[in-house]
Amino acid sequence: MKNNIIIFNHCTLLDEAGMLHPNQSLVIENGILTRITSDVLEGIDCSGLVISPGFVNLHTHAAMNIFKGIAEDVSIDAWFNEEIWPYESKMEEQDVYLGTRLAMAEMMKNGVTAYADHYFSPNAILRAAEEMGIKTDLAITLFGFAPNYQDDLKQAIELIRQNKNERVHLRLGPHSPYTCSPEVLKEIAGHAKVLGCGLHIHVSETQSQVDESIQNYGKKPLEIVYESACLDVPCIIGHGLYITPEEHPLLQKDTMISLSPKTYLKLAMGLGHMPDLIDDEHYAIGTDGAASSNSLNPLEQARLLGLVLKDVYQDARKAKLEQLWKLLMKGHEALPFNSGKLKEGYSADLIFWDLNQVHTMPVYNPLASILYSANETNIKAVMINGEWVKKDYQLLLDETLLIQEVNAQVQDLLKRGKGKAKVHF
Ligand SMILES: [Zn+2]
Repeated sequence: MKNNIIIFNHCTLLDEAGMLHPNQSLVIENGILTRITSDVLEGIDCSGLVISPGFVNLHTHAAMNIFKGIAEDVSIDAWFNEEIWPYESKMEEQDVYLGTRLAMAEMMKNGVTAYADHYFSPNAILRAAEEMGIKTDLAITLFGFAPNYQDDLKQAIELIRQNKNERVHLRLGPHSPYTCSPEVLKEIAGHAKVLGCGLHIHVSETQSQVDESIQNYGKKPLEIVYESACLDVPCIIGHGLYITPEEHPLLQKDTMISLSPKTYLKLAMGLGHMPDLIDDEHYAIGTDGAASSNSLNPLEQARLLGLVLKDVYQDARKAKLEQLWKLLMKGHEALPFNSGKLKEGYSADLIFWDLNQVHTMPVYNPLASILYSANETNIKAVMINGEWVKKDYQLLLDETLLIQEVNAQVQDLLKRGKGKAKVHF
């Protein structure tokens, strides 16, 4: 990047802790925040806007946007075994590519500047990431029981070694302890350690997964993951709802659990032990794939989490605004993108909020307006590494063309229909 300086003045900053700082000037040099000051500097006037760090979506399967709405009002077993996995077995690279692009567009519209993906067909996802510009942490999905597991692992390691894109981080994604044996998990964790890349895995999503694990191995899923050295490296855990308070000491400093309450409500999964543990430092927000959650908006997830927790505790004083906001920001710590703080030296990954709209007025408390009233129309602009990806309320890409391409692909996908699933939930 050339020497590029952008200065904003009269900014109201909303930091990662949910604190407001009015009348600030912001200097960005080559994509990095280099000065934040109450001096009024010559620059672009941001009066009336609130500027916050971008959102993180810490667990999703972006390509599954192509399946959004395909399996509704079914049990979680039927969702996996009769719908999603049979469709996925006939999935082609182009489905992954377009589903991922659609997902990235939706996320950027909603202020997501970095996200953690967990999927196969990495080349299609990398192509989408290159074109779209959103910071992508891709865990290349590995099924230990798949016949081509060794080839997939080899290919993943090679891709991780070769990656040079600074907006992309690659890691290994063993799907779960129920699709990867303890030996396979150990092998993958060993490679992650050598590569210095971290892991991303589903653990204890449902009580039946925990029960089956005890039946098969005499141990709970987290214990297996721990003993396989998966937590010796930075690790993102998808869901982890049925991890108990007794198991929590197994979590390491750089273990982060991603919560997607909309999926739990929609698939009637319950909240497990999460409400007792939510005050711990190990939680952040993700959306899961759109085949289960139907949208990729972390803000919506945080809002639902707030409402559900207040109801679960039967106490409206719980799940305070600042706590929900911190959960939204926490995911940055699990990703290697130097983002998530309005501090000098951090990446300029920013949301510019316009709360002066009918549905968010009056603004007594900007955090309340954002968390409980705002939607993507309040996001005037989004910046990643100091570059606009959304400006004047519009994404800087041809949305009409993308929609046409997705529609054509869906016709093709439906014609192919369902195949035989390789794994069983
Ligand atoms: Zn998942």
